[in-house]
Amino acid sequence: MNAEESPQKVWFDGKMVNLADAHISLLTHSLFYGSGVFEGIRCYPTSNGPAVFRLEDHVHHIFHSAKIMGMTPTYSEQEIVAAIINLIKQNRLSECYIRPIFFYGEKMDLLPIDAPIHIAIATWQWGKYLPRETVMVKLSPHIRLSSRSSDMTAKISGNYANSILALLDARKNGFEKALFLDENSYFAEGAGENIFFVKDKTLHTPTTDAILPGITRASIICIATNLGYKVIERNISLDEIPTFTEAFFTGTASEVNAISKINEHIFNNLEEGPVVKKIKSAYQRAVRGEDEQYSSWLSYVK
Ligand code: PMP
Repeated sequence: MNAEESPQKVWFDGKMVNLADAHISLLTHSLFYGSGVFEGIRCYPTSNGPAVFRLEDHVHHIFHSAKIMGMTPTYSEQEIVAAIINLIKQNRLSECYIRPIFFYGEKMDLLPIDAPIHIAIATWQWGKYLPRETVMVKLSPHIRLSSRSSDMTAKISGNYANSILALLDARKNGFEKALFLDENSYFAEGAGENIFFVKDKTLHTPTTDAILPGITRASIICIATNLGYKVIERNISLDEIPTFTEAFFTGTASEVNAISKINEHIFNNLEEGPVVKKIKSAYQRAVRGEDEQYSSWLSYVK
């Protein structure tokens, strides 16, 4: 996002301010040490106006991440939920991406004890994140950070240095996205997505031992099960790739996105496969309030 595309207002420590007026100190702890925690959330247009997808779950998750980073926010989960809804209303957005961050402020000591805790929320107009239906994925030369090295259930800014290195390597080699193996050489996750593989009427996805347990991942497990697919969470190894007919990423930003190839292995002639198509379409209906059975996942902006 650049300044022209930026929203009129952001929510910063309890106030609605212009983005250009939301200043932070150069000596911000989280800028130097990656100690911020954040979340990516989407708001979709529905026939009853804009609705945020799984808002409470995302806010709950950022509080989980904050706790792991030793933060005690002075706002409650309900207050942050209300702040997000109010910000979308204030910025008159019908479809947007929402980016809350909790971060440690001015303190130039690794240990952030006594550092002020700031909370900022930005929103911006956002349609589809990826231009095409499929993505080409390269295995990262680095493994995913181990859950023995960091807490991978938390969305900690510093964990993303690992993701950035993988993406830079993928781009340098002509691929669009990156994929990690874990320390035991099983599939872990993408740089900012979870992964699923398809074999007949079964979906296979890595366990949540060493990955971000994505809210889209959980939604897809539920939707796919309701569509009659069996979903197995297990350790998946690299040599199983040829046994799968399709693969796809899930995430708030990328939604459901078919993988056309992983390194040199091609899925479904580089086209979006039938299972991904079906699951993606069910997900799109759920997030847009077109399927009653998922209505509890939506928070309407009224
Ligand atoms: N894994 C990583 C590393 C991510 O950054 C994301 C995006 N937040 C995901 C998985 C998917 O999570 P979600 O479905 O909650 O967006």
